[in-house]
Amino acid sequence: MKKIILVRYGEIMLKGLNRPMFEDRLMHNIKRAVSGLGKVKVSRSQARIYIEPEQDDFDFESAVSRLVKVFGIVSLSIVRKVESDFETIKKHSAEMVRDHVAKLAASPAGKDRSIQNAGGKVSFKVESKRGNKRFPLESPEISRQLGGYLLKNVPGLKVDVNDPDFIFYVEVREHTYIYCDIIPAFSGLPVGTSGKGMLLLSGGIDSPVAGWMMAKRGMEIEAVHFHTYPYTSERAKDKVISLAKILSQYCGRIRLHIVPFTEFQLEINDKCPPGYLTIIMRRAMMRIAEKIAAENGAIALITGESLGQVASQTAEALAVTNEAVSLPVFRPLIGMDKNEVVEIARKIDTYETSILPYEDCCTVFVAKHPKTKPRVEEAKEYESRLDFGQLVDRAVRDTETMVIGD
Ligand code: ATP
Ligand code: MG
Repeated sequence: MKKIILVRYGEIMLKGLNRPMFEDRLMHNIKRAVSGLGKVKVSRSQARIYIEPEQDDFDFESAVSRLVKVFGIVSLSIVRKVESDFETIKKHSAEMVRDHVAKLAASPAGKDRSIQNAGGKVSFKVESKRGNKRFPLESPEISRQLGGYLLKNVPGLKVDVNDPDFIFYVEVREHTYIYCDIIPAFSGLPVGTSGKGMLLLSGGIDSPVAGWMMAKRGMEIEAVHFHTYPYTSERAKDKVISLAKILSQYCGRIRLHIVPFTEFQLEINDKCPPGYLTIIMRRAMMRIAEKIAAENGAIALITGESLGQVASQTAEALAVTNEAVSLPVFRPLIGMDKNEVVEIARKIDTYETSILPYEDCCTVFVAKHPKTKPRVEEAKEYESRLDFGQLVDRAVRDTETMVIGD
């Protein structure tokens, strides 16, 4: 008997001839996620990936909390791997179910239950899958016989096939896998299968969520942050580094480019009319990000913009922003309400960091009445008052790059 982790993956099954590429990448990302927790063997067979520790003190809890953040994984379970022999299966199943019942009984919900129903029995059912046709019993028969055996041999159990407290799973393959829990993960596609995107990462709530959503679709993420020191503090920069660190738990290592933006920002403020300050600043950011993207092999820009959220995010303003660049701009939050974004931010653990009260260049240099329907020709005319190209080049040249995550 061996304790191992079973990983299920879904959508990549659909990818036809590219399937091995997706599976290889998923295996690679899994190995990277659990590296440092102990030696493991990672193998795959019949749309399952198996992670087998090769040392006794393997940290399963940490492994699971890292693996649920690997995109492409639909769910995972900590399972016992036993010989596909029914007597052996029965013996190990009884042991496992006994432990599980004790765990449930000790949980707060379990304590409630024992007060509610006299006897405090835990209900269960068995679900079996037979992938090994040489095994003598068919699935329904496995469930029936094993269920009866467990009922007889584990105290405190009763059967409830409609609404059980837990399901005991049995998968008979070359070996047999038994388990009581299925831990859901985020699904999506393995990071590294959809090219690289350059995320414009501010310290706000939206942009980390935008980066997370594109990584979930398989994009490798690099990030660019515009820093307006001393108008924004070192702490604002630290906050962005913290956000990148949280994202790196999902995306793997992230290269973060910190762009000195003060000179550009002051020039814009000095030479452009108030109504156009924000939109020209947005165009400048996009232009710089596009250059950094080109230098680093990114094929798209990613922002946290959402239609109508602020004046610079009306459809007209977004069109003027887009006109500054030729790379595609991915805006995964475009149709989302703020509360929907917040919900994701909480789920992925960026929210608490995002709401720390450090100023952002957009709030420092905010114009009172930004134009909600800016026009490209006007924006370009104001830009011609600045040395736009040179300011872009200087900002790119003075950019500092750091690598976040292990
Ligand atoms: P967020 O919550 O991510 O800050 P926001 O709603 O505050 O977004 P804006 O400040 O208008 O929106 O910025 C829109 C998008 O532009 C952000 O989602 C982000 O992608 C990018 N952005 C804004 N400020 C910066 C910055 N200082 N560095 C990098 N990207 C930025
Ligand atoms: Mg912002």
